[in-house]
Amino acid sequence: MALTAIDNFINNEFVKPTEGAYFDTFNPAHGVPHAQIPDSTKADVDLAYKAASTAFTTWSKTTKAERARILYKIADLIDARQDEFVRAESKDQGKPISLAKTVDIPRAAYNFRFFAGRILHSVEEAAELEGVGFNYSQRMPIGVAGLISPWNLPLYLLTWKIAPCIACGNTAICKPSEFTSLTAYMLCSVLKDAGLPAGVVNMVFGTGMKAGQALVEHPRIPLISFTGGTVTGAKIIANSAPHFKKLSLELGGKNANIIFADCDFEKALTTSLRSSFANQGEICLCGSRIFVERPIYEKFLNGLVDGAKKLKVGDPSAHDTNLGALVSKEHWEKVKSYIDLGVKEGGKIECGGDKPASLQDEFQNGYFLEPTIISGLTPSCRVMREEIFGPVVTIYAFDTEEEVIQITNDSEYGLSCSLWTENGRRARRVAGEIQAGTVWVNTWMARDLRMPFGGMKKSGLGREGGEHSLDFYTELKTICLAD
Ligand code: NDP
Repeated sequence: MALTAIDNFINNEFVKPTEGAYFDTFNPAHGVPHAQIPDSTKADVDLAYKAASTAFTTWSKTTKAERARILYKIADLIDARQDEFVRAESKDQGKPISLAKTVDIPRAAYNFRFFAGRILHSVEEAAELEGVGFNYSQRMPIGVAGLISPWNLPLYLLTWKIAPCIACGNTAICKPSEFTSLTAYMLCSVLKDAGLPAGVVNMVFGTGMKAGQALVEHPRIPLISFTGGTVTGAKIIANSAPHFKKLSLELGGKNANIIFADCDFEKALTTSLRSSFANQGEICLCGSRIFVERPIYEKFLNGLVDGAKKLKVGDPSAHDTNLGALVSKEHWEKVKSYIDLGVKEGGKIECGGDKPASLQDEFQNGYFLEPTIISGLTPSCRVMREEIFGPVVTIYAFDTEEEVIQITNDSEYGLSCSLWTENGRRARRVAGEIQAGTVWVNTWMARDLRMPFGGMKKSGLGREGGEHSLDFYTELKTICLAD
């Protein structure tokens, strides 16, 4: 049976890629192709640019109130089609349906609601220059933005870019991940049904090497918002440099999860199971380096191993599944190679390490991996330094606060960190020393969209969230009026 092919979305119309080429996208739980994705090229990006630049002339002049009205409508329509989006996201990405239902899709709707409200309530600066006059600042939309997103939280992260981009009066060309394009495709109809004018959001599907790079190298696209791996981020910096593009880069991480002996043990343990293995460990914020203060190391390790063994791995569409499938065969192989490397580096596999033995027949070709805990490695090992991005964590005993701060910061990444202690002074002291864009104390993944979000070091450039997103998606100008 021929697979359903999706098409690009340009000027509010579904159009075939100019060269007519498509590639298969796979259902990770079954390991079989389930749809075809346009293999778009520079020519498709050029078409989308034409639509987006034409739309910019009117959309950039639309009132904030009108833009907000449409954004609220988009959010309502995502909610109305929530079940459909949830099923598609789980099927396409491999994630448990419960996660798509409680995190991915509600957050996609909320991204639109949040920025609809945010633009209505922003206030600019004003200052009197004594004896001369009066200054005020004004935000201008910038133009056509290139929005490039990864496969781990497909709709959640794409809408985190689209919503502020169009709320600020820009227009967009989106390039979702080649592995997870289906919910982005479904979003196109929602945008149209919500009354978003033609050309304001365009979707060009395909690979990073062709469609993504064409966006980055396009001389008239002045800003690129990218979420993905650090190596790709470096290419984007290099390829966009000749054009002086404004860049927002949300990149990889190797986040520490620090457990002090005075923590609320049960809370730290339960949350650490989540921060280790949620979404199969395919969340940039997962805490993959667990550092436990020595007096409670054995107890915590045993608790974590017991908990990991109880997690249910399998059918993403079953409501009690904890871990679904990894996104692709290539990614499964990459993650597995790090488990093997961990053994070579002298680590001990405390649990997991391979494909679960208990999979039903229909999932035998799926990309499933058991939650894996590795002990016995030192902080200099590659497995403790490089991003794995799967259900694999290392666990290590530390003795002092100074030591754990040093090993946490001895990383080329600086995205996030969790720390667990009931000592408030220590919490503030350690949080203040950690080199990471977000530090959670006694929690994980709690996110207030008004607050800055981003990474230090090789985890990213720039901040998004609240005012910071407005800063990225607008040019800020000062106007001085003489008396
Ligand atoms: P990639 O960097 O491989 O891809 C991200 C996107 O970039 C995809 O759409 C990809 O296309 C595209 N791309 C690839 N090469 C280029 C290029 N040369 N020019 C332009 N675009 C390109 O990341 P993954 O999709 O593998 O996502 C996982 C990574 O994302 C992890 O490192 C993770 O930590 C990070 N991440 C960071 C987050 C943060 O907030 N800091 C949040 C979520 C994930 P293609 O479709 O071909 O893959």
